[in-house]
Amino acid sequence: MALIVHKYGGTSVGSVERIKNVARRLAKWQRAGHQLVVVVSAMSGETNRLIALAKDIQASPDPRELDVVASTGEQVTIGLMAMALKDLGLKAKSYTGWQVHVLTDSAFTKARIVEIDEKKIRADLSAGNIVVVAGFQGADEFGNVTTLGRGGSDTSAVALAAALKADECLIYTDVDGVYTTDPRIVPEARRLSTVTFEEMLEMASLGSKVLQIRSVEFAGKYRVKLRVLSSLTDAEVPLEEEAGSGTLITFEEDTVMEKAVISGIAFTRDEAKITLTRVPDRPGIAYQILGAIAEANIDVDMIVQNISVEGMTDFSFTVARSEYARAMDVLNTKVKDHIGATNIIGDPKICKVSVVGIGMRSHVGIASQMFRTLSEEGINIQMITTSEIKISVVIDDKYLELAVRALHKAFGLEHEPA
Ligand code: ASP
Ligand code: MG
Repeated sequence: MALIVHKYGGTSVGSVERIKNVARRLAKWQRAGHQLVVVVSAMSGETNRLIALAKDIQASPDPRELDVVASTGEQVTIGLMAMALKDLGLKAKSYTGWQVHVLTDSAFTKARIVEIDEKKIRADLSAGNIVVVAGFQGADEFGNVTTLGRGGSDTSAVALAAALKADECLIYTDVDGVYTTDPRIVPEARRLSTVTFEEMLEMASLGSKVLQIRSVEFAGKYRVKLRVLSSLTDAEVPLEEEAGSGTLITFEEDTVMEKAVISGIAFTRDEAKITLTRVPDRPGIAYQILGAIAEANIDVDMIVQNISVEGMTDFSFTVARSEYARAMDVLNTKVKDHIGATNIIGDPKICKVSVVGIGMRSHVGIASQMFRTLSEEGINIQMITTSEIKISVVIDDKYLELAVRALHKAFGLEHEPA
C-alpha cells in the first residue's frame, strides 16, 4: 500500500463528465490498495472568469479581496469531486486549503507555503477516505485567505506530498508528459520518459507551461517523486500501465540510463528588450537602473552589460512584454537623467529560445552548434546568456518558430537517444 497524491488541473476537471471520469480513475487506484489525496484546480476558465469579475469592479483589484474571489473556483471542484466519489460508493471528504491548514505567508496573489499540518488528512486516510483538497489556496497566520499564483495547484500538490511523505505525486494534465519542445511548433517533438529536476526547472522557467516552476523547486528540495501524465485517457486503463506512463522527473544521481546531451528546446514569446546606451561605467550604475525597475515590481530576466569604451558602456536587459511600457516609463522618468544615459532604446518584439540539457556539463561544442544552426537560418542573435545546463538567446520574435524547429532538428531531438 502506498500513499499517493494525485493532482488534476482545470481541463481535467473541466466538466461534470470529466470529474466523474477522475472519480472512476481514483476508484481504480483505491481498489489497488492505495491511500489517496487528490488536489484539484478550478474548472477550466473559472479562475480567469473570477479575476475578470474582480477587474470589472476595480481596475487593479485589492489583492486581499482578489484572493477571496479567485480562490473560490477550487472550492466548487472539491465539493463536486467528493460527490462524484461518494456516488461511486467510496468514502471521500473535501477540504479547502485553510481547513487542512495550508499556512502561507501574506503575499496575496503569490503567497508561499510555509507549513502544512497534515494530521487531519492522515486521520481521514486511516478511516478509508479519499481526501480531496483545494489547490492554489491557503491562509496566512492571521486567517486571511491567500492564493499561490497562477498554476499554483501544482505547488499545493507537491507541498502536500512532501508534508505527507507520500510515495509519489502524480500530476494529471491535458498533455501526456513533458516534450522535447512544444508539439504545436514541432510535430516531431518527442515525449521524454524521464527528465531531471534541474532540466525541468530550466524548462519551467523558460516557458514550458507543464508545471508551475515553484512546484518543481519544491519537489527538488523535498525530494518528492513527481510524474506528469495524461488525465484524458480511459479511466479503466490497467493501473500498471498508467503508473508508468508520462514523464518521471528524476534526480540526476539516480539516473542510470544513457541520457541525450540536450533534453529540450524551451522558449518564451512575450518578452521585451531595453537598452540604455552610453551610460557612465562606474560603481552603482546597474543598481540604479535595476533598483528602480525592482521598486516598480517588474521582474528582470536577462541582463547584459558591454565592456566599457572610454568609460562608457551599454546596458541591456529583458522584461515581460506586458511590463515593457511601465519599465520604459520608470527609466525615462526616474533613471535616465539621473545616471546620464545617452539614449533608451526599446524593442518589444523579441523572444527567447533556449537549449536545455544536463549533458552540457560534460560535452563541449553545444553553444557553437546552436549558434551555427541559427546563423544558417539567417537569424541574428541579440543577446546570449548561459548557465551550466542551458544556453539562451534573444532573437526577433518573427523567427521564433523557425529557430525552434531548426534547433530541434540540429540536436536530433526527434530521435530516442541511442
Ligand atoms: N486555478 C488556478 C489557476 O487557474 C490554479 C491552478 O489551476 O493551478 O491558475
Ligand atoms: Mg496547470
